[in-house]
Amino acid sequence: MHGLMSLTAVGSIAFDSVRTPFGERERMLGGSAVHFALAASFFTDVHVVGPVGDDFGEDQVEVLASRGVDVGDIERVAGGRTFLWRGHYEADLNVAHTDDTQLGVFADFEPKLSEPSRNAEVLFLGNIQPDLQRRVRSQCEGTRLAALDSMNLWIETTREALVAAIAEVDCVILNDAEIRMLTEEPNLARAARTLMDLGPRIVVAKRGEYGAALFTGDTIFALPGFLLEDVRDPTGAGDSFAGGFLGYLDGCGAFEPDEVTLHRAIAYGTVLASFNVEEFGTERIQRLDAEEVTQRYAELRSLTHFDASQ
Ligand code: AMP
Repeated sequence: MHGLMSLTAVGSIAFDSVRTPFGERERMLGGSAVHFALAASFFTDVHVVGPVGDDFGEDQVEVLASRGVDVGDIERVAGGRTFLWRGHYEADLNVAHTDDTQLGVFADFEPKLSEPSRNAEVLFLGNIQPDLQRRVRSQCEGTRLAALDSMNLWIETTREALVAAIAEVDCVILNDAEIRMLTEEPNLARAARTLMDLGPRIVVAKRGEYGAALFTGDTIFALPGFLLEDVRDPTGAGDSFAGGFLGYLDGCGAFEPDEVTLHRAIAYGTVLASFNVEEFGTERIQRLDAEEVTQRYAELRSLTHFDASQ
């Protein structure tokens, strides 16, 4: 229970089969909406929207429910298969390869949001087909801050729909390489400006272990990642980052956030992403507690002095 604020997230709810230099796992619970929701649940009430097949177990729903996430808009499609992603990482964990993507029940999903989901103040359109993101966006009358993530697959196959979706949000949260690819502008600062010309007033560039950069009206802020000696699986880091970032903003009711609040949100995103990569899939975040989040945030702040006024 966090209070009056709430946040709605749509995105993939997935089974992930992942290989990294440190091991491999078959059909773990994953997906952009799942990683996002678990991270955001440390700060606010979260509603997850999306379909699963009947191969999706009650114990997987329970992972979300046990962190207080509202699972009422997770729709079980009889006879359908849950979204599946298979990928691997090189020794340099910043380099990911997709080996298979099976949309399953996402292929013809028609989102029907419940009242609480439609009325949430903050909306996260997680990585999924941009037309689906737009259909969810149009149902959310209560939204005061809408953010969007995407990936190279959608830039390559559905660019026009993605550009239309970007025009309808306040904030984009993308990898630096994706921002360059989408704008066809190699300089990141210029590329971020190009994205803002499409509509959003906040652009966040995720840069893997190098951290994140924030672009607003006329300012730029960058924070390094929280470097760890043991990193096992980077899958979901970007979504955990977005969950910490937007969850924090929603939790403090910052729908038109000032710079200081945005910097703190970037730091919370960084902290949640750093926990996520310590173990495979959602393993680490499932047993994370609020005290650990607070401690690592304090550590990041004293290491980087990003919030010297505090
Ligand atoms: P990231 O946070 O960028 O590491 O995202 C990882 C998550 O994205 C995984 O849990 C996958 O299930 C999910 N994913 C991978 N490809 C896609 C896709 N094309 N559409 C939606 N979700 C995807």
